[in-house]
Amino acid sequence: MISRRNLLAASAMGAAMTVSAAKAGSFGNPDEPPQGAINAKGPVILRDPGPQSEALGNQFPSAQSPPATDVGGMPTPWASFNNAPKRIQNGGWARQVTVADFAISKEISGVNMRLTAGGIRELHWHQAAEWAIMTYGTCRVTVLDAHGRPYVADVKEGDLWYFPPGAPHSLQGLSPDGCEFVICFDDGHADEFNTLLVSDWFAHTPPEILAKNFGVPADAFAKIPLHNLWIFQGTVPGDLAGDRAAIQKDAPIATHPFIFPLGSSLPFKSSDTGSIQIADSSNFKVSTAVSAALVTVRPGGIREMHWHPNADEWQYYLKGKARMTVFDTGPNALTMDFNAGDIGYVRRNLGHYVENVGDTDLQFVGVFRAPRYEEVSLSNWLAHTPAKLVAQHLNVDEATIASWPENAPGVMPTR
Ligand code: MN
Ligand code: MN
Repeated sequence: MISRRNLLAASAMGAAMTVSAAKAGSFGNPDEPPQGAINAKGPVILRDPGPQSEALGNQFPSAQSPPATDVGGMPTPWASFNNAPKRIQNGGWARQVTVADFAISKEISGVNMRLTAGGIRELHWHQAAEWAIMTYGTCRVTVLDAHGRPYVADVKEGDLWYFPPGAPHSLQGLSPDGCEFVICFDDGHADEFNTLLVSDWFAHTPPEILAKNFGVPADAFAKIPLHNLWIFQGTVPGDLAGDRAAIQKDAPIATHPFIFPLGSSLPFKSSDTGSIQIADSSNFKVSTAVSAALVTVRPGGIREMHWHPNADEWQYYLKGKARMTVFDTGPNALTMDFNAGDIGYVRRNLGHYVENVGDTDLQFVGVFRAPRYEEVSLSNWLAHTPAKLVAQHLNVDEATIASWPENAPGVMPTR
């Protein structure tokens, strides 16, 4: 399948060779003054003799030479965990990208964490809701909700968890090799390095208060840690059933799970070139503040042109190589490249599409600060608008418009 972009580029390139570069600007490069390499009169303009890091620069071919249809300037939609400093402690590590690092990421902040087998992310809580996707290994999570319902579960690659704001919780890596996961908070300012820690509160409470609060002698607290633990190496827990029985006691039973198997859930949309799997409050009841779409695109495929009316999209690239273009008023259009471990961000209602530009499957998860997943598909909209009306806008004939997909395919199928 020849993409429209390639067609445009090829046409424009041919025009540039036979007529003039300025003429090429009339198709696939509408703006004045003309932008893009196809308008460069001679290769010397494209040379970049200055100092540069090739290893870094080569990851961004779309920034080095943007498509001629890109125009203007927009805040970068790109960030990454790959160059975020790790806070390493015995038992694991974490790194984060908050709005302090990534200016447009106002609705979501992201954390990438690794725990060894037995490694513990200390019992804690915080202001923000916590949503997470497992990317490696297995992890045991515990949480107590606001109705006093205790919950414990084991999660594996592709699984999610969700903890409401203020619900105290813990995470622990299991055998044989612990786990890795990505957390999203529903607040761009949320900071995983500054959470409400059980050890901090104990250390900063007088022993006689601890004695009164827990109904035991003060000297029971003689050996509490004076500094917080955050991440530390513990012992691998026993079987899940044992922990489940131990925590329940006389408490009410949790009426819904705090975890969801997104990676193995039935697709919301699928085609021969990919699929979209959804987790939101319709199927993952507890997740009232965060929804998510796991997108898989086969080589050569495209996540169709669309936007999201109810929230910004925070993306985590799990595998493969992607190129995303974002469209805003102005007009502004910006294309950026994404690799595994990178983060993308698209403000609500801005048009965007994502191409798989590698030779393996592309997979990313889009996370939204909204109770329900919502999208608007460009082709679906135009297919459900009178063709005569659309034709008068675009000078595309009505028969062609009639062949456009009318079912919001998600990942555009081969035709
Ligand atoms: Mn947490
Ligand atoms: Mn999207």
